[in-house]
Amino acid sequence: MTHQLSPKFLRSANLNLNHEVWMSFALSLAKGASSSKLVTDVPIGAVIIYLHTSEDRYTGRSSLLATGSNQKELLQKPTAHAEIIAIERASAILGSWRLSHCVLYTSIEPCLMCVGAIIQSRIPLVVYGAQNKKFGALGSLNNTPKSNHKFTYIQGVKEQESQELMQNFFATKKSLNAKDNQEYQGK
Ligand SMILES: [Zn+2]
Repeated sequence: MTHQLSPKFLRSANLNLNHEVWMSFALSLAKGASSSKLVTDVPIGAVIIYLHTSEDRYTGRSSLLATGSNQKELLQKPTAHAEIIAIERASAILGSWRLSHCVLYTSIEPCLMCVGAIIQSRIPLVVYGAQNKKFGALGSLNNTPKSNHKFTYIQGVKEQESQELMQNFFATKKSLNAKDNQEYQGK
């Protein structure tokens, strides 16, 4: 039987989780998202870990459940965000849409669609790196859906690394586009 995790549960879970380590893993997945020359996916990675419980109490043990990296360009699929991919994989592994014993790590603040999926899957704790000023739906936008499912989020874990990854990606993309334009214009 699964229950909503209590704030007390989360506090104890929190103490036992090394957010930096899991975020480093999410960042390594993010780097993989744009590593190919042919694919230009924005580097975003997500990791879902499972909190082991015994009689609804956290045992202090957690394990990697699922991962995802942004594949929107690769798959030409608007919903192929890192978080959605990780959530779908986690649900498939558990055989349940309910991820109430899971923690989601994502390198960037989730968008409105992903926040919707977090609410739908009842994930109780989300940890993210850098803010997403344009599409972020947790702190950057004020239109987070109203829902009975309340989840906790922690922001700013490995924020600088995540931000630099994004900035470098967009700077490279911009210079490549400029080069393409020059070649196109015969310069
Ligand atoms: Zn998203």
